Amino acid sequence: MGSPYAQKILHFYCYECKDYELKTSPHYKAQKQRFSRRKKAREAKKPAATPTPPPP
Ligand SMILES: [Zn+2]
Repeated sequence: MGSPYAQKILHFYCYECKDYELKTSPHYKAQKQRFSRRKKAREAKKPAATPTPPPP
């Protein structure tokens, strides 16, 4: 018998519908991609992300 805490979270907050939806919704995938894109763009902007050679 599984405990109720073993349940996985099947819902996410959809910003398009402004409501909770099942992760099986196509909105979940689209939203996830959008967020990962933002994260990547942020990381690319970071100056520390690019390794700089030490001064001679
Ligand atoms: Zn939605």
